[in-house]
Amino acid sequence: MPSKKHLLSSSQIVDIFSTSKNATAIFTGEDIIIEFANNAILAFWGKDKRIIGLPLEEGVPELRGQPFKRMLQQVLKTGITDAGVISAETMIGGILQTRYYDYEYKALNNSLGQTYGILCTASDVTEGVLGKQAAKLASERETALIREQALNEQLAVSNEELIATNDELKAMHTNLQRLNNELDERVKSRTRSLEESEARFRSMAESSGILIALADETRNFVYLTRAWIQLTGHTTEKLLGFGWIDMLHPDDQQHALSSYMSAFKRHEPFTAEFRILNHKNDYCWLLAKGFPRVIQDDTIVGYIISCMDITELKEAEQRKDDFISIASHELKTPLTSLKASLQILDKMKDGFDSKQLVHLIGQANKSMDKITGLVNDLLNTSRTREGFLPLNKTTFIVADMLNTCCNHVRAEGKYNLVFEGDTTLQVYADEARIEQVVVNFVNNAIKYAPDSKDIFLKVEKLENVAKISVKDTGPGIAEDKIPRLFERYYRADYSGMRYSGLGLGLYISSEIIKRHGGEIGVDTEIGKGSMFWFTLPLE
Ligand code: ADP
Repeated sequence: MPSKKHLLSSSQIVDIFSTSKNATAIFTGEDIIIEFANNAILAFWGKDKRIIGLPLEEGVPELRGQPFKRMLQQVLKTGITDAGVISAETMIGGILQTRYYDYEYKALNNSLGQTYGILCTASDVTEGVLGKQAAKLASERETALIREQALNEQLAVSNEELIATNDELKAMHTNLQRLNNELDERVKSRTRSLEESEARFRSMAESSGILIALADETRNFVYLTRAWIQLTGHTTEKLLGFGWIDMLHPDDQQHALSSYMSAFKRHEPFTAEFRILNHKNDYCWLLAKGFPRVIQDDTIVGYIISCMDITELKEAEQRKDDFISIASHELKTPLTSLKASLQILDKMKDGFDSKQLVHLIGQANKSMDKITGLVNDLLNTSRTREGFLPLNKTTFIVADMLNTCCNHVRAEGKYNLVFEGDTTLQVYADEARIEQVVVNFVNNAIKYAPDSKDIFLKVEKLENVAKISVKDTGPGIAEDKIPRLFERYYRADYSGMRYSGLGLGLYISSEIIKRHGGEIGVDTEIGKGSMFWFTLPLE
């Protein structure tokens, strides 16, 4: 077998590779010793041949901290070729620059397959990479620009929408503000009208003079009209809460309180009558009417209670009761004596004694007159109450009527009826009714002033009226009783029953005079006597 003849020496081959445009280097060993580096790779590194034989990172210190040594060691260790594009920081013209290289680290194996070195080839693809990068960047920029434009457009649309929304919001805000102001105004005016209504209610309640009390849901009084203070003479503080109970009559406290409490429990109206101590320390009667104050859902928020002073009513009731007992008593007396006379007459009817008979008939007649008088009074009262008091008017001389009336008194001879005044004065009136008034005055003078022997009957002509009076010199009448003398059933000393009577005479008299358009009255002084008078209009 002919021996091969090498045409090129090793150094020639090395020289050839040295001038190759492809950057080439050979590395060996763990430290990556630069066995060979051609001019092209030395130019990449910015070094010269002096670095050959040195470990890579010693020869080219700029590569420290870059991955090359580790990559080369990996190829050496695994025997697997590594290739790709990589960037490297290399010193070019004294300036550290980033360059891109298309590289191959090819493992150099011996016949046993062991890796003894690495053949490194690399070409500078910086321009290409940068170009691509620039193109990519440009395209990215363009895409970004397009996206930005689209975004801008969207933003512009959104901005317009926002402006529109903002305008809407502004309008809504203005609207809301207006509504708010309106609401505010409405609340204010409602509060104002509520305040006005409350003030109106209070001034109405106060000016009415009615006793009004307002209780809250705890049953405590929270408001009272001034009338309460005037009635009781106590401060509002004392009366509020349950302070009013102490002022009630002990006999009425329990009833009043339980009426109030049980009505409150059932949310029902109530009425109660009770006596309360007034500022004069006298008990007066009150009629209380309470109504629950309930709101929409049936919740009770308190009570409104109004009270009426019914003292006079109670007194009138009392007088009426007294009147009934007096009337029965009054009727019983003449009836008993009439019955007695009739019984005696009955017994005597066979062998009668004419003297006794005359006396008994006289007594029976007296009793009958009394009963007739009482019944007439009762009848006249009911007639006047019904407004039915017919007048039969004629013209007559008052003095004549006075001289003939009261013959029963003259006949008895116990009293002097002294006539005074105008003997010719004429009036146009119901003579019988006017006589009834005079007789009543005279009878009263005899009844209430029995010691007054002289009774003065007087006729006077005043400006346009005739004044007729009956005067006695009896005990007179207390001033505080005068205003009530002409009331129905009123008797100045009715409780004592000292004198018989129904308390109707003066009432009927005043009704008769009123029907004639005249006036009636009394001038009296305690211890000096009374002058009852009336006037009749002159035509
Ligand atoms: P009656 O005589 O039935 O009581 P009257 O109406 O006639 O009813 O009188 C009312 C009251 O007026 C009497 O109860 C009496 O107290 C008082 N009165 C009337 N006349 C006189 C008088 N002349 N003097 C004193 N009191 C009198």
